[in-house]
This record gives sequence, C-alpha cells and structure tokens, in this order.
Amino acid sequence: METPTQHHDAAPTPLCEEFADIMPAVPQGADESFAIIAGPCSAETEVQTLATARQLAQQGIKVFRAGLWKPRTRPGSFEGCGEAGLEWLQTVKKETGMTTATEVATPHHSELALKAGVDILWLGARTTVNPFAVQEIADALRGTDVAVLVKNPANPDLDLWIGAMQRIHNAGIRRLGAVHRGFSAYGAKFYRNPPQWAIPIELHRLIPHLQLIADPSHIGGKRDLISPLAQQAIDLGFNGLIIESHCSPDSALSDASQQITPQQLGEIIGRIAIRGGQKNVGSQLDALRHQIDTLDSELLDLLARRMNVAVEIGRLKKEHNMPVLQPERYESLMKARVDEAATLGLDREFTSAILAAIHAESVNRQLNLTD
Ligand code: PEP
Ligand code: MN
Repeated sequence: METPTQHHDAAPTPLCEEFADIMPAVPQGADESFAIIAGPCSAETEVQTLATARQLAQQGIKVFRAGLWKPRTRPGSFEGCGEAGLEWLQTVKKETGMTTATEVATPHHSELALKAGVDILWLGARTTVNPFAVQEIADALRGTDVAVLVKNPANPDLDLWIGAMQRIHNAGIRRLGAVHRGFSAYGAKFYRNPPQWAIPIELHRLIPHLQLIADPSHIGGKRDLISPLAQQAIDLGFNGLIIESHCSPDSALSDASQQITPQQLGEIIGRIAIRGGQKNVGSQLDALRHQIDTLDSELLDLLARRMNVAVEIGRLKKEHNMPVLQPERYESLMKARVDEAATLGLDREFTSAILAAIHAESVNRQLNLTD
C-alpha cells in the first residue's frame, strides 16, 4: 500500500481529498512501510501484561496492544480489567519503550485512556456499527492529537466504516488508520469472521493513503490461520498487522483459541515475506494464488452451509411425509441458476455439472438423515 508521499496514477476520489491530511496512526517499521501491533486480547493481570510485553519486546515488537474494556457478545465472560490496566500499560511503556494501544468504547474510556497517556486508541467492531457511539467518542477526542484506529463494523458495510472514520477525522484527529478484522456471518464457518477482502480493497481504492492494518487473529479465530491470513493481507497490499499474543495463550481469559505466544509470533513474522516496492512476477503469482486459496475456502464454507440447510429441509420433508426428490423443484432451480450463471459469464455446461453434483449430495444427505 502506498504511503501519502507516493504518486497515484488514478484520479483522486472525493474521499481521498477529504482525508488528504491524514497520517499513519501506527508507527511504521524501519523501512517506513509496515507496522506490527501485538499483545494480548485482554490485559488480565499486571504480571501477565508485563510478561507478555517483555517477551514481545524481545521479538522486536514496537507497538503493544491490550484490551482493558472488553465488549463481549454474551454476558458472563471476562469483561476486562478496566481502569486498573491503565497503570500496567504505563509500566509497559516505561520498561520496554513500546508504544501502547487499547480499545475505547465510550467517552469515559476515552478520557481515562487519554489521561493515562495511551498512544493509540482503537474503536472495536461492535462500536463502529453505532454512529451515536462513534460520535460521542469523536467528541471526547476533539482537541487532542491521539492516534486512532477504526476497526471495521461487525457487518460488511463499507459506508458505515468510512462514516466512523469521517466522524473521527471531523473531530480533528489526523493520525488515523483502519483495521480489517473480518465480518460476522451466521452459521458454520471456516473463519471466525470471514474476510470478504473485496471490502478493504475497495476502501484502499477510495483512500489509497489510509493506513490499512489486518487483524488475522479476529478474522481466523484460530492459531493456525494467523500465518496464512497475515501473508494474504501482505500480498494484497496491507500496511500493517495487529496480532493477539499472550504469554500463556491456553489460559487466556478471552479469545484463547486465537492467541499465540510471543515466540510463535516471532516465528510467523520471520516466515512471512513483507514485500515492498516493485513486485516481481513470482510474488504477483503468490498473491494471486493466495486469492484463489481464499476464494476456495469461501466456496467450501458456502457449500457446508448449503448442505446444512438441505438437511433441515430433509427433516421437514420427513416430518410431513414428503418425497425427498421433487423433480419440478429441481428443474426450475436448475434453469434459474444456469440462467443466472450465464449472466455472470459462467459456462452453462460447467454450471449445470456443478449444480447437479451439489444437488446429488443434498439428496444423499436427505436420504441418510441420522436423527
Ligand atoms: C479485540 O481486538 O480484542 C476485539 C474485541 O476486536 P473486535 O472489535 O475486532 O472484535
Ligand atoms: Mn480479542
């Protein structure tokens, strides 16, 4: 992703002009092109926070994240240490020299974090969805020069994401960045929050100089997915990563399944290729292959969800003594889908073959209901 000083061939969009004066929220590495933020999902205790920070510093991490106020989907889980953690972040900064970052979800959080000298504040996915909440935070930040990251809203709505950044920018904040953490989706899924890369890519097209950071921890939701997602984001031109890391991931009080040790993070960073400048053919090919891998995963995810719906239909048919195979429904479905596919430029025979295979498997599932 280009820096603000680089030349753009494409005509500037109105948004690009509106945000012409923004600068990266997160300090970038030595080559000025890439930012890495790491730290636990939540600051749990002073010991855990400091141990994690020290180990991350040893791995060369310069920006430390820790959630103090945790927006939890369901009540009853760990909701963060709250205000107490501000002092721990100050100690982290003093001891390790790292820049600190935390999530704010209300004006009160914002005031406390500002008073405690937290360097970077972020708005979480559950805050960005709410323009009233974002505006109240923007008002609380007015007159300061704190750096702000805006995570995408939980739902795939680019305008809502941009609107939140406009509110923060209108309040006078100039060090601004966007974090892509994937989008909520109902049902069984490969990713915790499917990435829908087209959305951040469109954001980049609209505001090319906006610092764009990927959050593979919350997209994938599993340790194994951090490395491939981080590489994908890099290949797509993102300029930073935010990764959850905990000194003892298995005992983390929130998001345990997606946290890794600082050492594992160091290994991942060593392995992923942060490419800058002119891409060679090999890396372009890699980037395209990563896109194919992502699309294939999305296809499989959709297929699994489609099968689940077919099974539900099967149960209904069984309950009401209806036949599994209903030829008229099959014919009309097939015709409508093949016509639709043709408008997307897909070959009719190819589409018929795929749909026939999917339909056959659905029928199989309905014939072999186990409960
Ligand atoms: C987090 O970063 O720990 C967090 C709560 O993220 P999100 O808002 O993306 O769910
Ligand atoms: Mn988390």
